[in-house]
Order: sequence, then structure tokens, then C-alpha cells
Amino acid sequence: MTATTTHLATPRVRHRATEAELLDVAAAIEATREEYDRVRHVVPEAEWATFAQDVVAIKELKRTRDAVVLAHNYQTPEIFHGVADLVGDSLALARMAQEVEASTIVLAGVPFMAETAKLLNPGKTVLVPDAGAGCSLADGITPEDVLALRAAHPGVPVVTYVNSSAAVKAVSDVCCTSGNVERIVRHLGAEKIICVPDEYLARNVAEATGVEVITHPARCEVHERFSVADVEQIRAERPGITVVAHPECHPDVVAAADVAGSTAHMLDYVRTQRPAQVALITECSMADNIRAAQPETEYVQPCNLCPHMRRSTLAGIRAALETGGPEVVLEESTAAAARRAVERMLELS
Ligand code: SF4
Repeated sequence: MTATTTHLATPRVRHRATEAELLDVAAAIEATREEYDRVRHVVPEAEWATFAQDVVAIKELKRTRDAVVLAHNYQTPEIFHGVADLVGDSLALARMAQEVEASTIVLAGVPFMAETAKLLNPGKTVLVPDAGAGCSLADGITPEDVLALRAAHPGVPVVTYVNSSAAVKAVSDVCCTSGNVERIVRHLGAEKIICVPDEYLARNVAEATGVEVITHPARCEVHERFSVADVEQIRAERPGITVVAHPECHPDVVAAADVAGSTAHMLDYVRTQRPAQVALITECSMADNIRAAQPETEYVQPCNLCPHMRRSTLAGIRAALETGGPEVVLEESTAAAARRAVERMLELS
């Protein structure tokens, strides 16, 4: 990443608002009625008043800068439903990034996602609202770790979750997402694979496929906090509820759930099955975004927020578009090798 500027949410009102400022806010609220209608089930009107001016500014900046905003499913509703042009899980974002025509992409998510967009769009400008945002999975493994696993298990293919840096992807055979990992592992047809960095995703795919899987001890700090006791408590309080868990959860939590799947799979499940009540064992904003889209279902949200995803804000997206940074820049030989692993994933999925 070239720039290291951090754009954290700042308090909007530090002084008594003038009449002109209040009028500006009122005009912005009026101009964003359509966007607000999409989130009214999850965002109070008073809170939207703090977002409206940024939403208006971002809409205009996207037009003048020939830019689109891609947002991960874990982005907050005012971003996901308010300013994003394309939304999805990691796999969907990677696919969409290939088809974007605009010259600039703002990736509302964490830096590894912006790196993936850049890998697939080397000629485009890719901006990330906060280049300092981390991820316990992407930060939990280095290229040297992967090379050590390769040395210990010669000839065993390395399947790397997209939640990893470009440098780690570059020393991998193929990437995967939580939505396609099973398909990719089955396609490889190997008796043994190395699957990194997420230990739980790797153990869950071993369970699902019967393939021997060598793991690495990194975990998603959001999903590892869910326990079987959480699932049991939800079932005791809400008899008949459907429990849907993300495969970054511990294998025992996945086994205790009714359905396991990526964020896209979760959304599909709620859309198509329309359960009366559902517990979403995943990141909090994902559950909010599903609730905004499907308000007729009753939701139980055991709320674990990702602190890294929260560092993407409307203010950060606006600043990225205004300043043209932080921009993702990758070293070309690393990018070429990482691109091969991502493109192989896209071919196989
Ligand atoms: S929820 Fe946060 S910590 Fe977990 S994988 Fe996603 S970005 Fe990383």
C-alpha cells in the first residue's frame, strides 16, 4: 500500500450547528430518501442524518471521478445499502472486480480485499478507505510460513483462503473462498492438501470432503468467539429456530448449526427458504444487511463485530475519492504469481 493515512470515524458535530449547516443536512436527507428507504429497518432516522451529507458527496464524487464502490457483506448498512454499487462476499467481489468498467475502484472492506481487486484489475486505480485496517487471518500467516509447510509436505498442493496477503497468495497453488473451498478441494483430487491460513475453515473442509488437510493456526477473531453453548442457548430460547453458521466458526459450532455457508450462501438461504426465525452466526453487519433486505424474517444476531471492517466508514470512502488515496500498489512479480492463484480459483469455481 502506498499511503498509510488512517481515516477513522470522527464525531460529526463538535460545535453548535449553524442554521446554514442544519439546512445542508436537511437537504442531504431529502436527497437521500431512496437510500434511506433501503435501511430504515436497521438505521434510525436520527442516525441517518449523520450519514446523509457523506452519501450525497460520495454519489457526486463517484460520477466525477469515474469510480465505483465495491462493498463486502460485512460493511455497515449505510455503506452496503447507501453508497455501494456492487456488494458481495469475497468470491463475488473478486468476480465483479473483473468486470468493472470504471477507472477507479474503492473497495469498502479490508486491505486484502482491495489487493485482490487490484490483482484482477492491474490497470485500474484501486483505493481502500483505511489502509491500516487488519485481519486476524491475513495477518496470521507469512509467505515464509507457507514455504515451511511446503518444505515439510513436498508435492502437497497449497489452497489459500482469499483472506490473505498478495505475498501469501503468490506462494500458493490456488486460492479459495468460504463459498467455493469444498468445490476446489474436491476438484484437486489430492489425498492430502495444505489449507491456510484459517484453521477452522480447513478443518471444516476436511470434515466435508474426507481429504486429509494440513492446517495453520490462524483464526478469524470474530468467528472463533462463537461457541456451541451460544447455539444451544439460542435453540433453548427460540424452539424451532434455524441456525446458520459461517465456516470460519469452530467445527463443533458448524456441526451444531442447521446450515453452514459463506455470507452469500446465508443471504441466499434466507431469501429462498424464508425461515420464520433465523440465527445468523456471523459478523454483526452481515446480519444487519440481511435483515434490511429481508425484514419479514425474525432474526437472532449473536453480535460479534469485526473491528477491522468497521474502519471503513463513509468519511473514509469520501476522503479516498477526494484525495485519490490510499491506493493499492503491488510489486509486479508478486502480483503476477498471486494473480495466477486467484485466476485458477475463478476457473475452478
Ligand atoms: S471478520 Fe474481520 S477478522 Fe474475520 S476474516 Fe473477516 S476481516 Fe478478518
